[in-house]
Amino acid sequence: MQNSFPRGVHPGDRKALTKDKPIVPMPAPAVVYIPLVQHLGKPALPVVKERQKVAMGELIAKADGALSGNIHSSVSGHVRGVETLPTHTGSAAHIVVENDWLYTEKRLRPLKNPKPADILERVETAGIVGLGGAGFPVAVKLRPKTAVDTLIINAAECEPYITCDYRILLEYTARFVSGCRLLMRALSLENGIIGIEDNKRDAAAVVEAYIKDENISDLSVRALPAKYPQGAEKQLIFAVTGRVVPSGDLPADAGVIVHNAHTALAVHDAVCEGIPLYRRVMTVSGEGVKQPGNFLAPVGATLNDALIFAGGLDDRKRVVKMLWGGPMMGFALSGGGVSITKTAGCLLLLTEAEAETASPTACINCGRCHRACPMRLMPMYIDKYIFMDDAAAAVRYGAKHCIECGACAYVCPAKRTLVQSIRLAKKQIRERGL
Ligand code: SF4
Ligand code: SF4
Repeated sequence: MQNSFPRGVHPGDRKALTKDKPIVPMPAPAVVYIPLVQHLGKPALPVVKERQKVAMGELIAKADGALSGNIHSSVSGHVRGVETLPTHTGSAAHIVVENDWLYTEKRLRPLKNPKPADILERVETAGIVGLGGAGFPVAVKLRPKTAVDTLIINAAECEPYITCDYRILLEYTARFVSGCRLLMRALSLENGIIGIEDNKRDAAAVVEAYIKDENISDLSVRALPAKYPQGAEKQLIFAVTGRVVPSGDLPADAGVIVHNAHTALAVHDAVCEGIPLYRRVMTVSGEGVKQPGNFLAPVGATLNDALIFAGGLDDRKRVVKMLWGGPMMGFALSGGGVSITKTAGCLLLLTEAEAETASPTACINCGRCHRACPMRLMPMYIDKYIFMDDAAAAVRYGAKHCIECGACAYVCPAKRTLVQSIRLAKKQIRERGL
């Protein structure tokens, strides 16, 4: 077994700022702004009225279609209304709830020894989406259209700085392993593999020891050489199983389903403890933050709330970049007013020394971006053609297959903003129906 994938890059992992910081619950603020889009599909439909009293964990918006997801309140209090507010990618309707500080909680009934159908139903009810970033509804992945034989749990966490999955493995080991096995049970599988990069050997050892102590024979840990983007679905499947998922195919077509480590934890909490998904562990990091850490954050608090909880900005440093997500795949933010969602794994405040701020220059045709691309694309041509407004050419050079990992931009000596170009290309391709 090769345990790796072709191409990719080796950015420094920069995890030292938070890797030894235990997860700390972050208090909910006086008002939470809970977006109705925290998943891939259509916005959820509100089921609460203005001034209605809600409990923490109560359903406030219902999934609208297969790729949508249920949304629950992260505080107890009163609904103030629905407001359209900025998000990290644009804007969306948010349900605004005023905290009454009573912490009244509404849980679902914990399930004992659930059948696959019970797990599936609970995952849907609890609004669980993939917590690795994409927000793909988990229940959809639990109903593969083809036969699968392996579940891979993605604990690679290959993005620099981010340490939330790592801390979950170390601190919430039993709940995490339970979640992995529930996912396996939902899929009727007897083979689960947890993929962890070898720069997190201590977490791998803790999980392995737990699995051994509990005499669990159908779940194992696979240490993978640290390389970016190890956590990308197709790359992880190849590294762990040697199977190739061709362009346009789904992992299930190769007999594999991949779920993120944090997702497994959310499944345990929903099934065994009856807690819907309204909080998540997120990393707040970067040299610009006074006390970087890993926080159990309520959905609907803002990034500014998380930053304040992390002690605010370090006055001695000049922050030049604020990012939603890691430095490779993250989205640049103009402010911290946006809400924490189910998929918000990281807030980064980078100083000049950490951030890439050089202006782009002309492409020198060195080919490094192509050699780094794990999808074997030619990002320089997608960049070139999208500047020429030729979306059809961008399609020919594979823009649709780009996983937006940022490996190409990382190695580019001309500092071309290749990922932004490819995102623009994808938008134009969608708009023009190409
Ligand atoms: S072209 Fe896309 S998939 Fe290839 S390295 Fe760049 S961002 Fe990653
Ligand atoms: S790495 Fe940058 S400079 Fe080199 S070919 Fe790619 S886009 Fe051009």
